[in-house]
Amino acid sequence: MFEVLTDSFKTAISKVRFADDEKSLKRALDTLKKSLLKADVHHKVVKDLIKTIELETKQAGIGKESFLKSLKGNLTDILTTAGNQGFVFASKPPTIALMCGLQGSGKTTTTVKLAHYLKSKKKKVLVAACDLQRLAAVEQLKQLCTQNEIDLFFDVSEKNPIKIAKNALKRAQDGLYDALLVDTAGRLAIDEELMEELSDIKKALTPDEVFYVADSMTGQDSVRSAGTFNELMAVSGVILTKYDGDSKGGVALGIAKQLSIPLRFIGMGEKVGDLEPFLPDRIVKRLMGEGDLISLAEKTAGIIDEKQARKLTSKIKKGQFNFNDFLDQMESMKKLGNLKSLVGMIPGMSGMAGKLRDMDLENNSDINKIKAMISSMTKKEREKPDLLNNARKKRIANGSGLSQLEVNRFLKQFKNAAKMAKKFSGKNGMKDLQNLMSQQDRMQIPR
Ligand code: GDP
Ligand code: MG
Repeated sequence: MFEVLTDSFKTAISKVRFADDEKSLKRALDTLKKSLLKADVHHKVVKDLIKTIELETKQAGIGKESFLKSLKGNLTDILTTAGNQGFVFASKPPTIALMCGLQGSGKTTTTVKLAHYLKSKKKKVLVAACDLQRLAAVEQLKQLCTQNEIDLFFDVSEKNPIKIAKNALKRAQDGLYDALLVDTAGRLAIDEELMEELSDIKKALTPDEVFYVADSMTGQDSVRSAGTFNELMAVSGVILTKYDGDSKGGVALGIAKQLSIPLRFIGMGEKVGDLEPFLPDRIVKRLMGEGDLISLAEKTAGIIDEKQARKLTSKIKKGQFNFNDFLDQMESMKKLGNLKSLVGMIPGMSGMAGKLRDMDLENNSDINKIKAMISSMTKKEREKPDLLNNARKKRIANGSGLSQLEVNRFLKQFKNAAKMAKKFSGKNGMKDLQNLMSQQDRMQIPR
């Protein structure tokens, strides 16, 4: 994610201390320059940015505030490239989006993520499997779409991707779909054959959007190949993937500034929920470590049902939170996607995000044990955790293949968690939580 940039911005900002002190401004600019270069921002972009910030800060009077304002303003300007933001629907459905990019950049995953995102906005989405280069490609898409209940058009007997694209379009029109997302083949490097195939699909479909899917970990290389794709395919937007990895973040600035193509979405994890619309002012806020509560609220709103949440809160307050609620919560959490990216959206917590180990809810051995434990309980026991006496615990341990020690430990954890939740849901709950967060703040930000 953005930790590399965020941390270096903080360091740079901390160096501007006194009014009218050119030396401290110079130190801050030097730090900023070094960190931008380290984050893989193109040197020309860096040079321009530093020059403008120096000028603006001096004009406004050197100080933390003017430096910060200039840095923020310029970052927002760079990232606000002319063009659409997020997903834009055509006036006449179906909106057709062609997904293209190099092999392994994340096209297929992103196609499914995007379909999932649109579905959460109550749109009817069809995905088309037009990657016939790799044998397993259609199978991969089939699995992902089945898992996430996404409609897929594929035809294993057809060898021509252009025909499949045309048939998929017909299906999308006949089926009154809102959007058709077309997954295509990639190559390790740009070659003529691939470009011809893509141009032919483009001609056959006249898509509303041509999305270039770029791996943000490849740094300046991805800026270059995005440029070539743009020349040949007239790309209407870029989707940056793998922002959760060691991506240095500078690619976003490079694509926006050097190629003037709008960034539309960012992928920040392997799960289907790990995709977010790219909204420049929000991203800049997050880059500056200010968090982004709006994105957080939007992201959770699509997944957490309000009525259900109210019911749950009242249960927690009454101390009636049981094992069935726990399982429901785990399912919702999974849909939320990458926990790190969620934490990064909370103001003052961005530093924390980097330190969080990515908690994998599907392959976490403790969580799987807890699930095994719950599945060995009777219906009554799941509803009323208080029923669990020693005899019952022993039976559950045997049934789930856990030791009694483990069962006791999990039950204790569960009780503690329920108690904590009850406490935070009380009158002073929000205040308690805020206190906790402001302590975090004090620890994170260098002054
Ligand atoms: P394609 O060849 O362009 O279709 O690429 P795939 O969609 O098959 O993705 C290649 C690999 O990258 C897969 O292992 C994906 O799980 C992974 N991947 C895609 N997007 C992301 C992302 O945003 N974050 C992470 N960590 N992995 C991703
Ligand atoms: Mg693929």
